[in-house]
Amino acid sequence: MSERITLAHGNGGRFMRELVRDVFARHFANPALDTAADAVALPAADGTLVTTTDGFIVDPLEFPGGDIGSLAVHGIVNDLAVSGATPRWLTLSFLIEEGLEIARLDRIAASIGTTAHACGVAVVAGDTKVLPRGQGGGLYLAATGIGTRGADVMLGMTRIRPGDHLLVSGPVGDHGTAILLARNDFGLYGDLRSDSASVLAFARAAVGIGVRFMRDPTRGGLATVANEISLETRLRVVLDEAALPLREEVRGICEMLGYDPLYLACEGRVVAVVDPARAAALLAAWRGLPGGEHAAGIGTIETGRPCVVLRTALGGERLLEELEDDPLPRIC
Ligand code: MG
Repeated sequence: MSERITLAHGNGGRFMRELVRDVFARHFANPALDTAADAVALPAADGTLVTTTDGFIVDPLEFPGGDIGSLAVHGIVNDLAVSGATPRWLTLSFLIEEGLEIARLDRIAASIGTTAHACGVAVVAGDTKVLPRGQGGGLYLAATGIGTRGADVMLGMTRIRPGDHLLVSGPVGDHGTAILLARNDFGLYGDLRSDSASVLAFARAAVGIGVRFMRDPTRGGLATVANEISLETRLRVVLDEAALPLREEVRGICEMLGYDPLYLACEGRVVAVVDPARAAALLAAWRGLPGGEHAAGIGTIETGRPCVVLRTALGGERLLEELEDDPLPRIC
């Protein structure tokens, strides 16, 4: 087999068959399903089916704490998890740029296999396309996930009430800042890692406690989730600056480069809105989970003009507006 992807790896012929056999089938083997068929048959599931789809265009493809493959699996798993579902199946479309090293593709496929297995999801269908050199950014992934949800799970922004508390499951801005560093554009170095991880355990704990609404603060970060809540509920979201979990490295790097970490992506966090009477129980449950030690209550939902306000440590207020320009392209 050649060492780099050529256009022939996407032509449906022998090179493509060998690539599928030697890379994808090796890492995503699924003996229980007929994955050689044109469409895969999935067993009928109990409960409601829940589905989500997403594209992944991160640069660089591999970064401290993950790679485009683990990021795609976690991205899909987390969207299903915060919807109260158990992720079951995953499909993946590989859009590969001519010239990508096959060893690199193999590492990413291995990472997808390991991550999917750890999250309890099976890769059940896939596709390979090769884009001519200069047109593909190395590798793009398009992924779709299917999960199942019990009929008793009730979640949604319409359930949010004034007085509710806002919680986050860990420090914010880690992924965005780790990607910034990994690009080496600024001559800055650090040992910060992406927080890319499954939030399934956090979502399950929240559902168990009767959470009203959850979202993973990916692109656009915590400030964007807060704005989405405010826009949808027409309520005021007040965040307490002193309570926000933020790593010192993230704070320092963002200050230096002029980024607001509240708008940078997380890839392994959950924001939850919960009845104030249940907030302490959820916080305790989250802090007891691996990776949840920095979980925090970060704000409240209030009546008043719909907007997002950051109450600063000095007692002032700063409006966190909706994002307009993209602070950091190709982040996830
Ligand atoms: Mg999401």
